[in-house]
Amino acid sequence: MSISEPVHDHAVCTAELLSRAERTCERRGARFTGQRRDVLKCVAQSHAAVGAYDIIERMASRGPRPAPISVYRALDFLEAHGLVHRIESRNAFVACTHPHDGKPAALLVCASCGLVEEFEAPALFESLESAAEARGFDVSRSVVELTGRCARCQESG
Ligand SMILES: [Zn+2]
Ligand SMILES: [Zn+2]
Ligand SMILES: [Zn+2]
Repeated sequence: MSISEPVHDHAVCTAELLSRAERTCERRGARFTGQRRDVLKCVAQSHAAVGAYDIIERMASRGPRPAPISVYRALDFLEAHGLVHRIESRNAFVACTHPHDGKPAALLVCASCGLVEEFEAPALFESLESAAEARGFDVSRSVVELTGRCARCQESG
């Protein structure tokens, strides 16, 4: 099932995502609090990148308006545990839909609808990291984001 398919059961997709997050936190001994769960749920409302301000708005539409600092902290937590990805080029977030196994994925970011898809590119990351190492650089984090238009946006002109 691809998230760029027009019809995918997003309710099932969200439920899977939340239960995977629960298992991840349990395995790592991290606390998946109600607040963190709510923030992840709001980020995962769609597969488009969403900014912190819009996450706060989504939360406020479902319940009490959260303090921005608590949302930022929850996002930091979710990002640290690989449950959301920060889209550097848009200063936004997307829920992780990919089983990483400790490996980074490249991100395809649609500039029209904001859809973010992850794909594995192990050879790419290996060659980037070995090029960095050859320069005596110790890599702690690799981000590859490709911006463009998703298949659906190209179809709709
Ligand atoms: Zn979905
Ligand atoms: Zn991911
Ligand atoms: Zn698009």
